[in-house]
Amino acid sequence: MAIISSNINESNYSRSNKELRIIKSEILSEDKSDSQVISNRPKFFKEFIGHEKLKSSLKISIDASLFRGECLDHLLLYGQPGLGKTTLALIVANEMNTTCKVINAASLEKPRDIVGLLLGLKENQILFIDEIHRLSNLTEEILYPALEDFKLDLTIGASRGTRCRTINLPKFTLIGATTKLASISSPLRDRFGICHKLYLYSPEDLQKIIFNFSNLINIKIDDEASIRLALCSRGTPRIALRLLKRSRDYSQVIKKNNTVSIEIVEKVLNNQKIDRRGLDEIDRSFLNYLYQNNGGPIGLESISAALSEDSRMLEFIVEPYLIQLGLISRTPRGRVLTPSGEIYINEYYEK
Ligand code: ADP
Repeated sequence: MAIISSNINESNYSRSNKELRIIKSEILSEDKSDSQVISNRPKFFKEFIGHEKLKSSLKISIDASLFRGECLDHLLLYGQPGLGKTTLALIVANEMNTTCKVINAASLEKPRDIVGLLLGLKENQILFIDEIHRLSNLTEEILYPALEDFKLDLTIGASRGTRCRTINLPKFTLIGATTKLASISSPLRDRFGICHKLYLYSPEDLQKIIFNFSNLINIKIDDEASIRLALCSRGTPRIALRLLKRSRDYSQVIKKNNTVSIEIVEKVLNNQKIDRRGLDEIDRSFLNYLYQNNGGPIGLESISAALSEDSRMLEFIVEPYLIQLGLISRTPRGRVLTPSGEIYINEYYEK
């Protein structure tokens, strides 16, 4: 079961009520913000759909580590939100027969936070730091010797009485996840022996994910409904599963059953104003803003201010999919609407 631990200090270092989850791996919150919900995440590689090359390469590294009786090299996973980075970290822990501590870099504010966390690690345990690009410089400095030599260099006392002490740490594996590879400093990046990118999923893989998940939550979904959901999930499992759950709500309330049909899926998509390719109102206002401004180029911050949307959300969630569909492009001078983007807007607003 997911344990929220607010007290991991095994020395004089204390960590207050920070979000730290020690995952026994079987169960983890499906929605990252709600640790009370029982998870249906894949637990082993065989349940993780797609990314065949990444899985086989990781399996070799894991088997080799198990063969040597050592812990796995530090691993960096990068890619857009919802593609399975956290899930993979938990799978790696399961495949290595160990547990995983999960924390978000944003909650490691002070040096004592990371110190407490490292001191609380057990031999061969996995430490998963989400959004690792958000670590402060000071925290990174503390991490370097821990990652390289499994040592912690501490400075104790103030002014004249200052002493330096080195503490040996248990051997552990750090798995870092980020949506912003370029924002990770190169000294930190260099300390990861393994690095993998997660890509958007094909509709076929998303359809399998939808089917597997519907079995887990005991609902029926037919081929037509599942492929429709897959096609408008922006290549992202988290979106596919979210739309599936909303479809389940609709079928339970409207039809009083657990069967998701194409009719139900259409209702959910219409309600959320999601079109056949998965574009929603935010995508369309992004495209329309460029259209109204002669197709750009316009800087991201200006678009963000005009639409009153967070620029990070636009950069990491909205733009990659619009770029993938060929509707916009990024140029050094700003974002530009492509001819396909112009056709899309003309057609949409002509309807
Ligand atoms: P990230 O950490 O990249 O934001 P998560 O690991 O939290 O993404 O995944 C989001 C959801 O999608 C989880 O419920 C997870 O189980 C599911 N998921 C992601 N990738 C896969 C996959 N390849 N196969 C099955 N389910 C997946």
